[in-house]
Amino acid sequence: DQPNLDYKIVLLGDSSVGKSSLVLRLCKGKFIENLEPTIGGSCVIQNIEIGEREVKLKIWDTAGQERFQSLTPLYYRGAKGALIVYDITNSGSYKRAKEWIRELIENGEQDAKIVLVGNKTDLETKVVEDITAQKFADKNGLEFFTTSAKTGEGVSQVFFALAQLLVGK
Ligand code: GDP
Ligand code: MG
Repeated sequence: DQPNLDYKIVLLGDSSVGKSSLVLRLCKGKFIENLEPTIGGSCVIQNIEIGEREVKLKIWDTAGQERFQSLTPLYYRGAKGALIVYDITNSGSYKRAKEWIRELIENGEQDAKIVLVGNKTDLETKVVEDITAQKFADKNGLEFFTTSAKTGEGVSQVFFALAQLLVGK
């Protein structure tokens, strides 16, 4: 029999980088221009097929606590996967993403799979070059993707890649 493929994954990153919008895009296929910062926080379940297996992702999004730097390790405890999101038009959010990655590597689950995500590729005012993030990801053994929650570009690929990493394919 197939084991139960059921994983907690978390989204981490500065406020306003688009974490909740990525979840909304994945689960509902839509985008909301001025999403309330407190929307999210609930655990959303998404099933993804990897080959013949069904992977259940229990996606934890914050309810805006990251705005007050009040995310505790409880939030990512037990998480086997993490999407660390930054906004490609905001260098501070990239710096913060790197800090989150360090924190997860130090305090998170031993075998947690981490994916770095540069969001808002639909915007013209990019300040964080992809090559910079790609090099950081390579150095730390992470995967790197760029997305737009607004257009949907790259979004399903990110979650699919994470699901693949989780099942070890
Ligand atoms: P969170 O605080 O990280 O959860 O960010 P939100 O999902 O609440 O998004 C913050 C703001 O950025 C909202 O106004 C979103 O509509 C907007 N936003 C999120 N993703 C994108 C994107 O890919 N492109 C653009 N242009 N705006 C986005
Ligand atoms: Mg949010």
